[in-house]
Amino acid sequence: TVKSVCMDADEIERSLTRIAHQILEANHGASNIALVGILTRGDLLAHRLASKIKQIEGTDVPLGALDISFYRDDFATHLSPEVHSTDIRFDIDGLTVVLVDDVLFTGRTIRAALDALSDFGRPSCVQLAVLVDRGHRELPIRADFVGKNVPSSSHENVRLFLEEVDGVSAVEVLEM
Ligand code: 5GP
Ligand code: MG
Repeated sequence: TVKSVCMDADEIERSLTRIAHQILEANHGASNIALVGILTRGDLLAHRLASKIKQIEGTDVPLGALDISFYRDDFATHLSPEVHSTDIRFDIDGLTVVLVDDVLFTGRTIRAALDALSDFGRPSCVQLAVLVDRGHRELPIRADFVGKNVPSSSHENVRLFLEEVDGVSAVEVLEM
């Protein structure tokens, strides 16, 4: 059952606009950054951020994706996420790589993403942008850029709809 609607389409857009500005401010522009989205929603958010950065600075930032299986619907299992595939068609050496994901939870997906990146090259810095931080970290990982902190209990789940795939954009908290 839907417990609450946390963000509507406008709020998501404003958050992403703010995050685009924060990324640019933190990195003194777009000249040395790349965005890497984590499938299956982080890549869509990374695309939105890239087009906002293009609007703001006029720069096309390199855009890549990581597919980290599996998606843990069942939070009772403790299998570790593994890197399924990478789509990074540029040299990440020396770049500031901004990982982009939809929801940050235990931090295990990001840990796997960091492992995958280090196989790929040597970024000068890795930052993390997430639309929702729902807490419950199990690793010393935090996001540099957060759309919204959504405190959740472990029997809740955050549902994100995105226009590109769902026809509407919204963030909801579900009680399981
Ligand atoms: P973590 O690895 O930090 O435990 O979980 C983060 C990853 O699992 C993200 O890629 C995210 O897509 C997914 N995830 C974890 N919890 C939720 C949730 O409540 N809602 C959604 N939509 N995805 C989640
Ligand atoms: Mg995910």
